[in-house]
Amino acid sequence: MFESPSHDALDTMSNPDYEKQLYLGNLVFKHLQEGIIITDDMTRILQVNAAFTHITGYTQEEMIGKTPKILYSGKHDPSFYKSMWEKINSEKHWAGEIWNRRKNGEIYPEWLEINAVQNEKCKITHYIGVFSDLTHHKNLEERLWFQTWHDPLTGLPNRRRLETHLKKALVEAKHHQHQLALFFLDVDEFKVVNNSLGQNAGDRVLEKIAERLSQAIGSGNMLAREGGDEFIILQTHVNEAEDAAAMAEKLLDLFDSPYKIESEEIHLRISLGIALFPDNGKTAEDLLRHADIAMYAAKNTLGMHSRRKAGNYMFYGAPESTSLTRYLKVREELEQALTAQEFVLYYQPQLDLRTGRIIGVEALIRWQHPQRGLLPPSEFIPLAEQTSLILPIGDWVIEQVCRQLSLWKAAGLQLTLAANLSARQFKSNSLLAHVEHCMSNHLFDPRYLEFEITETTLMDKTSMTTHFVDACREKGIRFSIDDFGTGYSSLAYLEALPVNTIKIDQRFVAGMLKNRKDLAIVKAIIEMGHAMNLTLIAEGIETSEQSLALKEMGCDLAQGFWFYRPMPINKLEQILRIDGSFNEIHNRI
Ligand code: C2E
Ligand code: MG
Ligand code: MG
Repeated sequence: MFESPSHDALDTMSNPDYEKQLYLGNLVFKHLQEGIIITDDMTRILQVNAAFTHITGYTQEEMIGKTPKILYSGKHDPSFYKSMWEKINSEKHWAGEIWNRRKNGEIYPEWLEINAVQNEKCKITHYIGVFSDLTHHKNLEERLWFQTWHDPLTGLPNRRRLETHLKKALVEAKHHQHQLALFFLDVDEFKVVNNSLGQNAGDRVLEKIAERLSQAIGSGNMLAREGGDEFIILQTHVNEAEDAAAMAEKLLDLFDSPYKIESEEIHLRISLGIALFPDNGKTAEDLLRHADIAMYAAKNTLGMHSRRKAGNYMFYGAPESTSLTRYLKVREELEQALTAQEFVLYYQPQLDLRTGRIIGVEALIRWQHPQRGLLPPSEFIPLAEQTSLILPIGDWVIEQVCRQLSLWKAAGLQLTLAANLSARQFKSNSLLAHVEHCMSNHLFDPRYLEFEITETTLMDKTSMTTHFVDACREKGIRFSIDDFGTGYSSLAYLEALPVNTIKIDQRFVAGMLKNRKDLAIVKAIIEMGHAMNLTLIAEGIETSEQSLALKEMGCDLAQGFWFYRPMPINKLEQILRIDGSFNEIHNRI
């Protein structure tokens, strides 16, 4: 920062080094990036430097004898200057941001420091102002502001901005007693565009969609990008639901004609969900959630109620969506269950049929529902699979299983722990990263982690799933085919499957002592599996006869109510701790 020169340096020539000092002082004065302005005690300008001229446009000749008032921008009121001068005169220093005006009339922000210079009698003789131009910083600030509130790809407001705007619009709508409509727009199957034309082309399409939408929404309304292929539109001043329907039709119109990218014509469809204020929600959160749910309903009833080629729209709570009402309610409940941590894992032991020892455990999810009690997976997993909620739920299961394995490792327990992967989860491109993340958070030997996948899931090969299986197997993670016998069960397929274990489906176990066909199937699976060096495990063993028959057929492992039902972790650990349990089970085999 510029040091205020002492009164002596300015006024006396008694110092022998004066000339040298003067020379240096002049050098600094001339070359400093900051503008400098020196006035007498009446604020009449005595001198300015080159940077001053550069910033303000005024030369020294133009300024001498004038006061800095010539730079006033008119942006501050008199009280601002009054308190500034009070501080300078009492504390001899002031610093702050101030708007000034250049010679060309442009108003600009500057950072200004003013020092009052006193003589030996403490009388102010000069004022020295040093300032830097903040225009560049302001631009940076504006850019930062823009980035915080806008989507970088399309330049549209982002969800945060929309939420803030929606809250203000709600206050106004309440005050003036008019309605608002909130639209959730999702492009159907947009993934296909990305997969077939590449991410870049996908981005160009999204930009074009944003362009068409912004031209169509009309003034006073707001368009925002939620992320991915989802947009949100806020329509203000809605008098009746028909106004929102008209807007929906208008938005659908935009998708009647194809989008052109790299000489390709792309036909797109959209799903629109609409929530009205005040009927469908009184807060921003409720309206956003309900518009999302309605959009989902529009997407799911597309096959049945498709109104137009360009897509479909639906109002929240509309009669068409009543069949979905329960479904959507459960979906909402599931979302809440995740937040409230209502899911629990039960564990069912798997035993070695030869020794009777527990060698592994399968983790089976349960939902501890606050009203309906403990729910089995059949009550919610299919639903979670239809929505994307299986992804966070599945992630949670993997995290728990990894955590459990690390605890067992610390306790010296060597048990395989199997987690079920759903088809949707298996195909998600973030699964591998999540598994790796959990493995780095929880230390355990990956050979004890097993993923159970059904045949059908495994058959549906994509490069992503193959990559996932290969990457996991490289780490040592094991795979088993669940419910074997209910899918393709093809020998040829089986050969190509990168799995370690086959789980014979419980329906064959249940039927094998009653009909010969099931028995033949079980025998064949065991033989076939062994020929391929795979481990065989029979599921759903409920009787000692079944257990004995499977042992005789050479089945390796067993799981079923005859041994243990799925149980909470503390019960399992109790069983694992009691050595006697092994003997007890031994007797049952
Ligand atoms: P699954 O993987 O085939 O699991 C075995 C199912 O058979 C379990 O049902 C288990 O309780 C039941 N079971 C075990 N022994 C016997 C027996 O002796 N008799 C009979 N009748 N049933 C027996 P559960 O726990 O209801 O799970 C059902 C299905 O839900 C599982 O079938 C699995 O496909 C799915 N599931 C469970 N947990 C998860 C999970 O964390 N993620 C995913 N994606 N699916 C899961
Ligand atoms: Mg299973
Ligand atoms: Mg099974």
